[in-house]
Amino acid sequence: MNLKPEKKLGFGLMRLPVLEDKSIDLEAVCPMVDALLEAGFTYFDTAYPYHGGASESAVRKVLVERHPRESYTLATKLPGWLLSETVSAQQLFDEQLEKTGAGYFDHYLLHSVNRGNIEKYDSFDCWNWGLGLKAAGKIRWFGFSFHDTPEMLDELLSKHEVDFVQLQINYLDWENEAVQSRGCYEVATKHGVPVVVMEPVKGGTLATMPEAAAEILKSHAPDASLASWAIRYAASLPNVMTVLSGMSNQEQIEDNVATMKDFVPLNEAEYAVLQQATDKLVELKMIPCTACRYCVDDCPMSIQIPDIIRCLNHTKVYGRSGDMKKKYAQLAEAGSPASACIGCGQCEGVCPQHLEVPKIMEEAAALYEEQK
Ligand code: SF4
Ligand code: SF4
Repeated sequence: MNLKPEKKLGFGLMRLPVLEDKSIDLEAVCPMVDALLEAGFTYFDTAYPYHGGASESAVRKVLVERHPRESYTLATKLPGWLLSETVSAQQLFDEQLEKTGAGYFDHYLLHSVNRGNIEKYDSFDCWNWGLGLKAAGKIRWFGFSFHDTPEMLDELLSKHEVDFVQLQINYLDWENEAVQSRGCYEVATKHGVPVVVMEPVKGGTLATMPEAAAEILKSHAPDASLASWAIRYAASLPNVMTVLSGMSNQEQIEDNVATMKDFVPLNEAEYAVLQQATDKLVELKMIPCTACRYCVDDCPMSIQIPDIIRCLNHTKVYGRSGDMKKKYAQLAEAGSPASACIGCGQCEGVCPQHLEVPKIMEEAAALYEEQK
């Protein structure tokens, strides 16, 4: 296996189908994995926190124990925020090897590097430690996933030796000031570092977009799925080595396989159509939450942040519907209402999209909670 897979589509294992008790539905995942491998797609991407820690164990059951080790490449990531005087990177890595049973990792990344955690990765010397893993044959390629500015990425790639970098790239974020997809992609390209794309469909937003924007794409290509536009956009960038899609069911697997089996890059007319759809989406001013749920577990008030944001986005696009008020009431009951937010800032510290969550919670409380 090479650093760059033959086909530019990888399986992101963070939005797997789940059973009623929220555990991963392994029976449903197995045929998804098999279908990808049969079609020649070999890149699988997990991480320590995905599915509350269960994704890496699921990898063992659905992939490692069912397919020859050389038939796929496996990527996972060091959760640097867990490092402490008593928890070392090596301990976490050994735990990951044990959970997956993979023997070694093909791609190993420092997870979600940004200005909020860089000090930790630096102070625990994770950059040299990663190169040491590579020299020892425990991993094949070393990289990091990144959520910050092009300037910071430039500095990191000037200072550290890595084989690849994972970036958030999609057509809506290409010029987005908070994400700066274009700037980061250009920096990686300047350094000759290949890019793995995460969030090409923006947490599903670009596959379930409002009708006003979807219609622009549908009228140009009635048979193409909305997701296929987003996947092809990311894969059309020449320095992209693979595009990760967090697929949740067989239908999404089939759609992505159909799009990427004999991949055709976007042409000029298609880029122009996508630009029109992008303009429409920007006009709707939706909150750019990707529903990654990194903010949820440590919210001291147990607020269901991404689900509440989904309600707000729905209301922005479709008006103040009774449905959303009802949905919001259920979320408030399952966790806490948005008005319970104490502004502790935990969520903002971990949000890869740099969202001002407490302000957004205020907005939700004002909209959905009864005035006393
Ligand atoms: S700022 Fe509010 S929403 Fe965010 S973690 Fe703290 S209490 Fe939860
Ligand atoms: S608010 Fe940020 S951290 Fe929380 S789910 Fe949305 S994108 Fe992820």
